[in-house]
Amino acid sequence: MAEKVCGKAYGKINIGLDVLRRRPDGYHEVKMIMQTVDICDELEMELLDTDEIVIVSDTSAIPNDQNNLIYKAIMKFREATGETAGVKISLTKRIPIAAGMAGGSSDAACAMRLYNKLTGHHLPLTQLQQIGVKIGADVPYCLQGGTALSEGIGEILTKLPTPPACYIVIGKPDISVSTKFVYENLTLNEKTVHPDIDGMRACISSGDLEGICSRLGNVLETVTVTEYPVIAQIKELLLTERAKGALMSGSGPTVFAIFDREETAKKAKERLANSGLVKDCFVTGFIDCQEEA
Ligand code: ATP
Repeated sequence: MAEKVCGKAYGKINIGLDVLRRRPDGYHEVKMIMQTVDICDELEMELLDTDEIVIVSDTSAIPNDQNNLIYKAIMKFREATGETAGVKISLTKRIPIAAGMAGGSSDAACAMRLYNKLTGHHLPLTQLQQIGVKIGADVPYCLQGGTALSEGIGEILTKLPTPPACYIVIGKPDISVSTKFVYENLTLNEKTVHPDIDGMRACISSGDLEGICSRLGNVLETVTVTEYPVIAQIKELLLTERAKGALMSGSGPTVFAIFDREETAKKAKERLANSGLVKDCFVTGFIDCQEEA
């Protein structure tokens, strides 16, 4: 049995996000296109002689106790399997926090994969996903990664081809947005403009980057952009810098923009970094997949 394992937890963006309805149980039925980007946290997990779960991270911005999603993931795995092995997890955090990039869900997914490996259970991906949805709606996707259509509450996943190569500028303003607040304040009615997720899916299948960029849409912008106008300012700056399209990711406040040329993307990132509108910004790209389960 291996004593220590390492893994990467990648962030995601939503290139399309629609909410279809609020279910009677309070969950929202979504239709989203998820895409892994090349920004990741790193996890190192080692076995302990006790049954403790110890989390050490390089940031004080997230809890290190039972409220950390890594802790919750291991507990859910234990409940499902009867496993009791204690572990120490060292987390290096690079995905912006409370940003709409599923950093916590991705850490949870990675922790499940590592614990699965370290304890020798080797549960298949589908079973990890069934456990993962109990931690959060984005966890099943984070276990799989790549490009995917996500439906239901996020647990019905259809793998899609990777969109054409392009350059992504990501900017996060110095605010944190609560996903709960955004969903609670979302109004869905006959005036709601729903993004064209089916059209987006067709453009991904045919490798049509222009078509993808013209269909970027996120119904949650109606809540978050109204609350935080800086998001609209970031989008405008990136579009002025010749982005092919720009959108808020998830419940925000992170904004991403798609460029077809690296030079243009790097220049836009520099302007954004110097604008005073963001705290973090990156140039990155789409990547295909998470690591093996
Ligand atoms: P999503 O896109 O899934 O809505 P998010 O990117 O908006 O997620 P996260 O970075 O996952 O947000 O963080 C949401 C909250 O979860 C934070 O307030 C944080 O305190 C808590 N949290 C618990 N564990 C973690 C973790 N390992 N990494 C980040 N946040 C965590």
